[in-house]
Amino acid sequence: MLQRDAAPDGEQSRTPERWTLPVARELYALPFNDLLFKAHSVHRANFDPNRIQVSKLLNIKTGGCPEDCGYCSQSAHYASGLAASRLMQPEQVIAEARKAKEGGATRYCMGAAWRNPKSRDEAAIVAMVKGVKALDMETCMTLGMLSAEQARTFADAGLDYYNHNIDTSERFYPEIVTTRTFADRLETLARVREAGIKVCSGGILGLGEAVEDRIDMLVTLANLPTPPDSVPLNMLIPMPGTRLAEAAPIDPLAFVRIVALARLMMPQSHVRLAAGRTAMSDEMQALCFFAGANSIFVGDTLLTAANPGDDHDNSLLNRLGITPETTA
Ligand code: SF4
Repeated sequence: MLQRDAAPDGEQSRTPERWTLPVARELYALPFNDLLFKAHSVHRANFDPNRIQVSKLLNIKTGGCPEDCGYCSQSAHYASGLAASRLMQPEQVIAEARKAKEGGATRYCMGAAWRNPKSRDEAAIVAMVKGVKALDMETCMTLGMLSAEQARTFADAGLDYYNHNIDTSERFYPEIVTTRTFADRLETLARVREAGIKVCSGGILGLGEAVEDRIDMLVTLANLPTPPDSVPLNMLIPMPGTRLAEAAPIDPLAFVRIVALARLMMPQSHVRLAAGRTAMSDEMQALCFFAGANSIFVGDTLLTAANPGDDHDNSLLNRLGITPETTA
Protein backbone atom coordinates (compact mmCIF):
# COMPACT_ATOMS: atom_id res chain seq x y z
CA MET A 1 0.00 0.00 0.00
CA LEU A 2 2.90 2.34 0.68
CA GLN A 3 3.79 3.28 -2.86
CA ARG A 4 0.19 3.78 -3.87
CA ASP A 5 -0.26 6.32 -1.09
CA ALA A 6 3.08 8.00 -1.60
CA ALA A 7 3.10 11.74 -2.09
CA PRO A 8 4.18 12.55 -5.63
CA ASP A 9 7.61 13.57 -4.42
CA GLY A 10 9.00 10.10 -5.02
CA GLU A 11 10.62 9.80 -1.60
CA GLN A 12 12.64 6.63 -1.55
CA SER A 13 11.53 5.92 2.03
CA ARG A 14 7.98 5.37 0.81
CA THR A 15 8.95 2.55 -1.50
CA PRO A 16 7.97 -0.81 -0.03
CA GLU A 17 10.80 -3.18 0.79
CA ARG A 18 9.32 -5.83 -1.44
CA TRP A 19 6.88 -5.25 -4.23
CA THR A 20 3.97 -7.61 -4.55
CA LEU A 21 1.99 -8.44 -7.64
CA PRO A 22 -1.33 -7.16 -6.19
CA VAL A 23 0.15 -3.75 -5.31
CA ALA A 24 1.83 -3.42 -8.71
CA ARG A 25 -1.32 -4.59 -10.47
CA GLU A 26 -3.39 -1.97 -8.67
CA LEU A 27 -1.02 0.82 -9.75
CA TYR A 28 -1.07 -0.45 -13.33
CA ALA A 29 -4.88 -0.37 -13.35
CA LEU A 30 -5.16 3.28 -12.27
CA PRO A 31 -6.85 5.60 -14.74
CA PHE A 32 -4.22 6.47 -17.36
CA ASN A 33 -3.92 10.11 -16.32
CA ASP A 34 -3.52 9.23 -12.64
CA LEU A 35 -0.86 6.63 -13.42
CA LEU A 36 1.09 9.03 -15.64
CA PHE A 37 0.81 11.88 -13.13
CA LYS A 38 2.18 9.68 -10.35
CA ALA A 39 4.95 8.29 -12.52
CA HIS A 40 5.95 11.69 -13.85
CA SER A 41 6.01 13.13 -10.33
CA VAL A 42 8.34 10.37 -9.15
CA HIS A 43 10.44 10.83 -12.28
CA ARG A 44 10.76 14.58 -11.69
CA ALA A 45 11.73 14.00 -8.04
CA ASN A 46 14.58 11.70 -9.02
CA PHE A 47 15.79 12.98 -12.40
CA ASP A 48 15.90 16.07 -14.56
CA PRO A 49 12.83 15.32 -16.72
CA ASN A 50 14.37 17.11 -19.71
CA ARG A 51 17.55 15.04 -19.85
CA ILE A 52 18.06 11.67 -21.41
CA GLN A 53 20.89 9.16 -21.22
CA VAL A 54 22.17 8.22 -24.66
CA SER A 55 23.75 4.86 -25.38
CA LYS A 56 25.05 3.31 -28.56
CA LEU A 57 25.00 -0.43 -29.14
CA LEU A 58 27.40 -2.35 -31.36
CA ASN A 59 27.06 -5.98 -32.33
CA ILE A 60 30.61 -7.25 -31.78
CA LYS A 61 29.75 -10.84 -32.80
CA THR A 62 26.69 -11.51 -34.91
CA GLY A 63 24.50 -14.61 -35.27
CA GLY A 64 25.11 -18.34 -34.90
CA CYS A 65 24.03 -18.26 -31.25
CA PRO A 66 23.29 -21.71 -29.76
CA GLU A 67 20.50 -20.32 -27.56
CA ASP A 68 16.86 -20.64 -28.51
CA CYS A 69 15.32 -17.26 -27.68
CA GLY A 70 12.08 -17.34 -29.67
CA TYR A 71 12.30 -13.69 -30.72
CA CYS A 72 15.92 -13.57 -31.86
CA SER A 73 17.19 -13.59 -35.43
CA GLN A 74 20.70 -14.33 -34.13
CA SER A 75 19.70 -17.75 -32.81
CA ALA A 76 21.08 -20.67 -34.82
CA HIS A 77 17.72 -22.39 -34.21
CA TYR A 78 16.02 -20.17 -36.82
CA ALA A 79 16.53 -19.68 -40.54
CA SER A 80 16.50 -15.91 -40.31
CA GLY A 81 18.95 -15.45 -43.15
CA LEU A 82 21.47 -13.74 -40.89
CA ALA A 83 25.12 -14.57 -41.59
CA ALA A 84 27.19 -15.40 -38.51
CA SER A 85 30.36 -13.40 -37.96
CA ARG A 86 33.45 -13.80 -35.81
CA LEU A 87 34.23 -11.59 -32.84
CA MET A 88 35.35 -8.14 -34.00
CA GLN A 89 38.90 -6.97 -33.36
CA PRO A 90 39.25 -4.64 -30.35
CA GLU A 91 40.79 -1.87 -32.53
CA GLN A 92 37.71 -1.91 -34.78
CA VAL A 93 35.38 -1.73 -31.79
CA ILE A 94 37.30 1.14 -30.24
CA ALA A 95 37.23 3.07 -33.54
CA GLU A 96 33.44 2.64 -33.66
CA ALA A 97 33.15 3.80 -30.05
CA ARG A 98 35.12 6.94 -30.89
CA LYS A 99 32.61 7.75 -33.65
CA ALA A 100 29.72 7.14 -31.21
CA LYS A 101 31.26 9.54 -28.73
CA GLU A 102 31.58 12.20 -31.42
CA GLY A 103 27.87 11.62 -32.09
CA GLY A 104 26.97 12.36 -28.44
CA ALA A 105 26.80 8.88 -26.87
CA THR A 106 28.07 8.65 -23.30
CA ARG A 107 27.79 4.88 -22.92
CA TYR A 108 29.04 2.28 -25.37
CA CYS A 109 27.22 -1.05 -25.26
CA MET A 110 28.77 -4.07 -26.93
CA GLY A 111 26.79 -7.25 -27.59
CA ALA A 112 27.91 -10.72 -28.64
CA ALA A 113 25.53 -13.50 -29.72
CA TRP A 114 26.84 -16.13 -27.32
CA ARG A 115 25.46 -18.50 -24.71
CA ASN A 116 28.48 -17.41 -22.66
CA PRO A 117 31.96 -16.07 -23.44
CA LYS A 118 34.69 -18.68 -23.95
CA SER A 119 37.97 -18.26 -22.14
CA ARG A 120 39.72 -17.67 -25.50
CA ASP A 121 37.56 -14.54 -26.00
CA GLU A 122 38.23 -12.94 -22.63
CA ALA A 123 41.43 -11.08 -23.57
CA ALA A 124 39.70 -9.39 -26.52
CA ILE A 125 36.74 -8.38 -24.33
CA VAL A 126 39.10 -6.95 -21.72
CA ALA A 127 40.95 -4.99 -24.45
CA MET A 128 37.63 -3.59 -25.73
CA VAL A 129 36.55 -2.50 -22.25
CA LYS A 130 39.88 -0.82 -21.54
CA GLY A 131 40.00 0.86 -24.96
CA VAL A 132 36.48 2.28 -24.72
CA LYS A 133 37.05 3.40 -21.11
CA ALA A 134 40.14 5.26 -22.30
CA LEU A 135 37.82 7.35 -24.52
CA ASP A 136 36.12 8.48 -21.31
CA MET A 137 32.93 6.62 -22.13
CA GLU A 138 30.97 4.26 -19.92
CA THR A 139 31.15 0.63 -21.03
CA CYS A 140 28.44 -2.00 -21.14
CA MET A 141 28.70 -5.58 -22.37
CA THR A 142 26.07 -8.20 -23.11
CA LEU A 143 27.71 -11.57 -23.66
CA GLY A 144 25.26 -14.12 -22.23
CA MET A 145 25.80 -16.03 -19.01
CA LEU A 146 28.91 -15.25 -16.96
CA SER A 147 30.81 -17.27 -14.39
CA ALA A 148 31.76 -15.49 -11.17
CA GLU A 149 35.37 -15.46 -12.34
CA GLN A 150 34.50 -13.88 -15.69
CA ALA A 151 32.43 -11.22 -13.93
CA ARG A 152 35.44 -10.39 -11.75
CA THR A 153 37.79 -10.32 -14.76
CA PHE A 154 35.57 -7.86 -16.62
CA ALA A 155 35.01 -5.78 -13.47
CA ASP A 156 38.79 -5.54 -13.01
CA ALA A 157 39.08 -4.35 -16.62
CA GLY A 158 36.74 -1.48 -15.70
CA LEU A 159 33.42 -2.69 -17.13
CA ASP A 160 30.69 -0.35 -15.83
CA TYR A 161 27.51 -2.18 -16.83
CA TYR A 162 26.46 -5.68 -17.79
CA ASN A 163 23.23 -6.24 -19.67
CA HIS A 164 21.36 -9.47 -19.11
CA ASN A 165 17.61 -9.26 -19.60
CA ILE A 166 15.13 -11.46 -17.80
CA ASP A 167 12.90 -11.03 -20.89
CA THR A 168 9.50 -11.66 -19.26
CA SER A 169 7.82 -13.16 -16.20
CA GLU A 170 9.12 -16.36 -14.64
CA ARG A 171 5.80 -18.02 -15.52
CA PHE A 172 5.90 -17.13 -19.23
CA TYR A 173 9.67 -17.44 -19.70
CA PRO A 174 9.73 -21.15 -20.73
CA GLU A 175 7.41 -20.30 -23.65
CA ILE A 176 10.09 -18.00 -25.00
CA VAL A 177 13.47 -19.49 -24.08
CA THR A 178 14.10 -23.21 -23.83
CA THR A 179 17.89 -23.43 -23.53
CA ARG A 180 18.48 -21.69 -20.21
CA THR A 181 16.26 -21.05 -17.26
CA PHE A 182 14.92 -17.96 -15.56
CA ALA A 183 17.01 -18.99 -12.52
CA ASP A 184 20.15 -19.05 -14.75
CA ARG A 185 19.45 -15.46 -15.69
CA LEU A 186 19.07 -14.37 -12.07
CA GLU A 187 22.28 -16.19 -11.20
CA THR A 188 24.27 -14.25 -13.82
CA LEU A 189 22.76 -11.00 -12.53
CA ALA A 190 23.85 -11.92 -9.00
CA ARG A 191 27.41 -12.66 -10.18
CA VAL A 192 27.57 -9.34 -12.01
CA ARG A 193 26.28 -7.44 -8.98
CA GLU A 194 28.68 -9.24 -6.64
CA ALA A 195 31.60 -8.33 -8.91
CA GLY A 196 30.66 -4.66 -8.50
CA ILE A 197 29.39 -4.15 -12.07
CA LYS A 198 26.18 -2.18 -12.47
CA VAL A 199 23.25 -4.24 -13.66
CA CYS A 200 21.26 -3.49 -16.81
CA SER A 201 18.23 -5.77 -17.01
CA GLY A 202 14.78 -5.51 -18.49
CA GLY A 203 12.63 -7.33 -20.94
CA ILE A 204 10.52 -7.43 -24.06
CA LEU A 205 6.84 -6.63 -24.44
CA GLY A 206 4.80 -8.20 -27.23
CA LEU A 207 5.99 -11.81 -26.95
CA GLY A 208 2.41 -13.02 -26.52
CA GLU A 209 2.56 -12.59 -22.75
CA ALA A 210 -0.38 -11.46 -20.62
CA VAL A 211 -0.46 -8.04 -18.96
CA GLU A 212 0.05 -9.88 -15.68
CA ASP A 213 3.38 -11.25 -17.00
CA ARG A 214 4.61 -7.76 -17.83
CA ILE A 215 3.77 -6.55 -14.34
CA ASP A 216 5.32 -9.64 -12.76
CA MET A 217 8.54 -9.07 -14.71
CA LEU A 218 8.77 -5.61 -13.12
CA VAL A 219 8.08 -7.10 -9.68
CA THR A 220 11.05 -9.46 -10.18
CA LEU A 221 13.34 -6.63 -11.29
CA ALA A 222 12.27 -4.23 -8.54
CA ASN A 223 12.74 -6.95 -5.89
CA LEU A 224 16.34 -7.78 -6.85
CA PRO A 225 18.72 -7.05 -3.94
CA THR A 226 19.33 -3.74 -5.71
CA PRO A 227 17.03 -2.75 -8.57
CA PRO A 228 18.91 -2.66 -11.91
CA ASP A 229 20.67 0.64 -12.64
CA SER A 230 19.27 0.43 -16.16
CA VAL A 231 15.97 -1.13 -17.17
CA PRO A 232 15.67 -1.56 -20.95
CA LEU A 233 12.09 -2.04 -22.13
CA ASN A 234 11.89 -3.43 -25.63
CA MET A 235 8.84 -3.62 -27.87
CA LEU A 236 9.13 -6.76 -29.95
CA ILE A 237 10.14 -6.28 -33.54
CA PRO A 238 8.96 -9.57 -35.08
CA MET A 239 11.87 -11.03 -37.01
CA PRO A 240 11.21 -13.15 -40.12
CA GLY A 241 12.13 -16.79 -39.59
CA THR A 242 11.84 -16.71 -35.80
CA ARG A 243 9.14 -18.39 -33.72
CA LEU A 244 7.59 -14.99 -33.03
CA ALA A 245 7.62 -13.72 -36.61
CA GLU A 246 3.83 -13.39 -36.59
CA ALA A 247 3.43 -12.00 -33.05
CA ALA A 248 0.62 -9.46 -32.71
CA PRO A 249 1.63 -5.88 -31.92
CA ILE A 250 1.06 -4.59 -28.41
CA ASP A 251 -1.32 -1.72 -27.62
CA PRO A 252 0.92 1.40 -27.43
CA LEU A 253 -0.92 2.68 -24.35
CA ALA A 254 -0.29 -0.66 -22.59
CA PHE A 255 3.41 -0.15 -23.30
CA VAL A 256 3.29 3.38 -21.83
CA ARG A 257 1.60 1.98 -18.72
CA ILE A 258 4.52 -0.44 -18.21
CA VAL A 259 7.02 2.40 -18.59
CA ALA A 260 5.11 4.35 -15.93
CA LEU A 261 4.96 1.35 -13.64
CA ALA A 262 8.70 0.73 -14.07
CA ARG A 263 9.35 4.33 -13.08
CA LEU A 264 7.15 4.01 -9.98
CA MET A 265 8.68 0.72 -8.89
CA MET A 266 12.32 1.62 -9.66
CA PRO A 267 12.44 5.38 -9.04
CA GLN A 268 16.19 5.75 -9.38
CA SER A 269 16.82 3.47 -12.34
CA HIS A 270 17.33 4.69 -15.87
CA VAL A 271 14.37 3.27 -17.80
CA ARG A 272 15.38 2.77 -21.41
CA LEU A 273 13.24 2.70 -24.53
CA ALA A 274 15.28 0.04 -26.27
CA ALA A 275 14.35 -1.95 -29.39
CA GLY A 276 11.07 -1.22 -31.12
CA ARG A 277 11.21 2.56 -31.38
CA THR A 278 10.86 2.40 -35.18
CA ALA A 279 7.35 1.06 -34.59
CA MET A 280 6.53 3.80 -32.07
CA SER A 281 5.10 7.13 -33.15
CA ASP A 282 6.81 10.30 -31.95
CA GLU A 283 3.75 10.91 -29.78
CA MET A 284 4.05 7.48 -28.15
CA GLN A 285 7.72 8.09 -27.41
CA ALA A 286 6.87 11.51 -25.94
CA LEU A 287 4.33 9.83 -23.65
CA CYS A 288 6.98 7.27 -22.62
CA PHE A 289 9.41 10.08 -21.75
CA PHE A 290 6.69 11.80 -19.70
CA ALA A 291 5.94 8.48 -17.96
CA GLY A 292 9.57 8.15 -16.91
CA ALA A 293 11.67 6.72 -19.73
CA ASN A 294 15.00 8.55 -19.70
CA SER A 295 17.38 6.56 -21.84
CA ILE A 296 17.54 5.56 -25.50
CA PHE A 297 19.82 3.82 -27.92
CA VAL A 298 20.88 5.97 -30.84
CA GLY A 299 22.08 4.96 -34.30
CA ASP A 300 20.52 3.33 -37.35
CA THR A 301 20.64 -0.25 -36.09
CA LEU A 302 20.24 -2.12 -32.81
CA LEU A 303 22.01 -5.44 -33.11
CA THR A 304 20.07 -6.76 -36.12
CA ALA A 305 16.99 -4.51 -35.88
CA ALA A 306 16.32 -1.06 -37.30
CA ASN A 307 16.49 2.02 -35.06
CA PRO A 308 15.18 5.52 -35.84
CA GLY A 309 18.60 7.03 -36.67
CA ASP A 310 20.31 10.16 -35.41
CA ASP A 311 18.47 12.71 -37.56
CA HIS A 312 15.06 11.54 -36.48
CA ASP A 313 16.07 11.31 -32.82
CA ASN A 314 17.70 14.72 -32.81
CA SER A 315 14.60 16.23 -34.34
CA LEU A 316 12.29 14.50 -31.84
CA LEU A 317 14.40 15.45 -28.82
CA ASN A 318 14.64 19.05 -30.09
CA ARG A 319 10.88 19.26 -30.47
CA LEU A 320 10.48 17.99 -26.91
CA GLY A 321 13.21 20.20 -25.43
CA ILE A 322 15.07 17.15 -24.15
CA THR A 323 18.87 17.16 -24.15
CA PRO A 324 21.33 14.30 -23.63
CA GLU A 325 22.91 13.73 -20.23
CA THR A 326 26.58 14.52 -20.38
CA THR A 327 27.36 11.86 -17.82
CA ALA A 328 25.11 8.98 -16.88
S1 SF4 B 1 18.87 -13.16 -27.45
FE1 SF4 B 1 21.09 -13.40 -27.14
S2 SF4 B 1 21.29 -15.41 -26.19
FE2 SF4 B 1 19.25 -15.38 -27.11
S3 SF4 B 1 19.52 -16.25 -29.17
FE3 SF4 B 1 19.74 -14.02 -29.37
S4 SF4 B 1 21.91 -13.63 -29.21
FE4 SF4 B 1 21.56 -15.68 -28.40
